[in-house]
Parts: sequence; structure tokens; C-alpha cells
Amino acid sequence: MTRVLVVEDDPQLVRALVLNMQARAYGVDAAPDGATALRLTAARQPDVVVLDLGLPDMDGVDVIRALRGWTRVPILVLSARSASDEKIAALDAGADDYITKPFSMDELLARLRAAVRRAAAVPIDAEQALVTTREFTIDLGAKKVRRRGHDVRLTPTEWHLLEILVASPGRLISQKHLLQEIWGVSQSDKTNYLRVYMAQLRRKLEADPSHPRYLITEPGMGYRFEM
Ligand code: CA
Repeated sequence: MTRVLVVEDDPQLVRALVLNMQARAYGVDAAPDGATALRLTAARQPDVVVLDLGLPDMDGVDVIRALRGWTRVPILVLSARSASDEKIAALDAGADDYITKPFSMDELLARLRAAVRRAAAVPIDAEQALVTTREFTIDLGAKKVRRRGHDVRLTPTEWHLLEILVASPGRLISQKHLLQEIWGVSQSDKTNYLRVYMAQLRRKLEADPSHPRYLITEPGMGYRFEM
């Protein structure tokens, strides 16, 4: 049974989440504040944590940092629409994904399943890992990309960017994380670098670069690789 820890101080939302998750045979615990969340994560070892960022006792981002000190449990953040800085801080602190309130229960459950699947996935073997889509194939070991029977030439920077994204299919990777990984900078004013390189990658890999199917932008937040 997949165990979920719901960290949320709104009792009505907790009730809706618990009922929907139990109906799908998840085991659910609920914590109304950050301190309880930290205690229950250690005590119950959930498979995934659903975390509201606006908690009465602690900043949700501090809860993520505290958890990341000792656990890699997937963390799916619930966040208010207006708080985009907060979402970015949550991703940079180690959250795996976020969903904006108000959200549909179906979408939340889909994200939850994806988070659990990613955590359960066997780590890729870099020597022979192939990422295959209908449009192109990426050989992570040989650092080669083929599209429709032809080799695609990527610059080292394009390759590095692609490699980070495809290593976590479906996962939102923050701009800050990509900037730090690729250029060692975290200034948000460098996000135009990312736009330029993403546009180049799309031109090389996407059938319709202006309507990407695989290299998805989450405006203001980051990028996802969708299989
Ligand atoms: Ca709240």
C-alpha cells in the first residue's frame, strides 16, 4: 500500500484529500502543521508527502529543507496561485513538484502517482540508457541523439541541458537549478540563456518547435521533459 502524508492546516481540504486517497486505496496520515509533519514523516515513513506551503507554525519551505536533511521521499507542494517565488523556493529546497490551489482532485492524484512512480523507478544505467520517444532517441551513455534515422548534433551546453531534463521525466526542473548546474550561476536575470538553449533544442528535436511536445516550459518556473 502506498502511504501518503498530507500536511495541510485547512480541515475541509484535508478531509477531501483523505477521502479521495483512501477511496483509491492509499494509506493516509494527516498533519496540521510543520512540526507534526516532521514527526510523522520519521515515524510513518510515507511513500510521498503532500505539503501545503502555508502552515501555521513553520514556513513550508523550511519543512522541505528539514526533510531533505535525511530523506528523499517525494514531496508534492500545494501552493497558492499568487506565490510564484514561494514555489521556486520550494523546488530549490528539494520539492519534486507543485500544484496550484485550487486544483482538481484528478490532477492532484495524477501528480501523486507520477511522484511515486519516479521514486520507485530503477536508477538509469548511464552506460546503456536509452530514452526513446516517437520523435527521437537519446543514448545517455554514448551522449548521442538520433532523430528519424539521423544523428543530431548538439553543443555541449545543449547536451548538458537535455541530459538534466531527461534524467527526470515528467519532473519540473527549476530555472535556478538548471542555471546552477550548467553555468554555475543562480541569478534569475540569466534565464534568457535558458530560453535560448531550449529554443535551440526544440528546433533540433521537436516536430513543431513552437508547440513542443517533449520539452515543456512551465512559465516563470522551469522546464519539464515529457516522454
Ligand atoms: Ca494553509
